Amino acid sequence: LQERLSGILDALTRRGALTEADVAAALREVRRALLEADVALDVVRDFVEKVRERAIGADVVKSVTPGQMVVKIVHDVLVETLGADAQTIDLNAPPPVAIMMVGLQGSGKTTTTAKIAKRLSEKQKRKVLMASLDTRRPAAQEQLKVLGEQIGVDSLPIVAGQTPVQIAQRAMQAARLGGYDVVMLDTAGRQFVDEALMVEMAEIETAASPHEVLLVADALTGQDAVNLARAFDERLALTGIVLTRLDGDGRGGAALSMRAVTGKPIKLAGVGEKMDALEDFHPERIAGRILGMGDIVSLVEKAAETIDAEKAKAIADKMRKGAFDLDDLAEQLKQMQKIGGMQGVLGMMPGIGKMKKQLEGANLDDRVIKRQAAIISSMTRHERRKPDILKASRKKRIAAGSGTRVEDVNRLLKMHRQMADMMKAMGKGKGGLAKLFGMG
Ligand code: GDP
Ligand code: MG
Repeated sequence: LQERLSGILDALTRRGALTEADVAAALREVRRALLEADVALDVVRDFVEKVRERAIGADVVKSVTPGQMVVKIVHDVLVETLGADAQTIDLNAPPPVAIMMVGLQGSGKTTTTAKIAKRLSEKQKRKVLMASLDTRRPAAQEQLKVLGEQIGVDSLPIVAGQTPVQIAQRAMQAARLGGYDVVMLDTAGRQFVDEALMVEMAEIETAASPHEVLLVADALTGQDAVNLARAFDERLALTGIVLTRLDGDGRGGAALSMRAVTGKPIKLAGVGEKMDALEDFHPERIAGRILGMGDIVSLVEKAAETIDAEKAKAIADKMRKGAFDLDDLAEQLKQMQKIGGMQGVLGMMPGIGKMKKQLEGANLDDRVIKRQAAIISSMTRHERRKPDILKASRKKRIAAGSGTRVEDVNRLLKMHRQMADMMKAMGKGKGGLAKLFGMG
């Protein structure tokens, strides 16, 4: 699948231009690819619609092909859907703040409970109490206790014969008395979502009034992710999702499904069995994984650079022949804006110190560059080709037309002359120009 989607996007990237039919075909493939990545059908449908809406009528950045634009839009919508806004655990409530962990058996609840407790106590200096409400598996409470000892976080003493609700109440009581900031409630899971589990979770929620209810889910979950997320979201006031086993080779489809179905943020990611294998969730990474590409945005940027370099080469060729006119300068100014103005350009050129000082007088910041572009566009075509014909009356007209002063026009013409000379001189040598325009 990943290779396939990459292949499709590659094909788009290489196209010169895309017709509407091409976009539709691309989206059909994106749709199929998402389904293969185990993203739920409804979610895929909505997603593709979003991309389509965005793609139609979107301005295609000049130096990027429409195909690359579609690629970027797919990536952007994916990141947005996954939650572009970084979210983390909210402790903004009167202590003790209860955090309830829910999910299926084996999803990583107990491990994640301890990981979060470690993070809160070490990094955020909170006093944390952990309690296991898992009375179903004999060793479950013991497991959390051992982890607590390992990470140096207190766990509620084990008392035999209590129900999960009773343990939750005891944990809250102990936390109040003991001056704890946070209580982590690790619950029992089932192999499948069933009514008994949901009833138990709802009772615990009522008893402990948790500030956060985190659904812990395995990133390898396939189409079940939607039913799972929906079931928990309907019965509990979920506040977020933790995806575990992101260190595995899952394709991340579960992330998109669960996020879309619940609308709840994915707050954390488990990336291993060790106690510090917990990370903030990075939508960009999962988006990249779902699309099977490292970094689509950089791909688009690289393509844009290539196209700019082609334009630059054409200009450089003209300059070498001494034919650098004001149209070329206008094009140059546009590119300069992209790479950080004249200082940026000069910074790329070796041995240019003296010239740099001269040109610094022109103080080429963004505003100045825009003004210069305005001056050039107020000239006639003939004037742009042959700036020598620009005498006082023409300059006055141009200044008026561009909302500048004759001095500004003069300064621009001077800069053009300097640049033309400088470039002609450098064009004779080898490295200079080629370096300047990244054609080396
Ligand atoms: P619970 O039944 O939901 O409490 O699940 P556990 O916390 O007991 O975890 C089940 C297994 O998954 C354990 O062997 C954990 O070490 C492992 N596990 C949990 N989170 C991760 C993770 O992010 N990555 C990996 N590779 N393993 C994990
Ligand atoms: Mg457990």
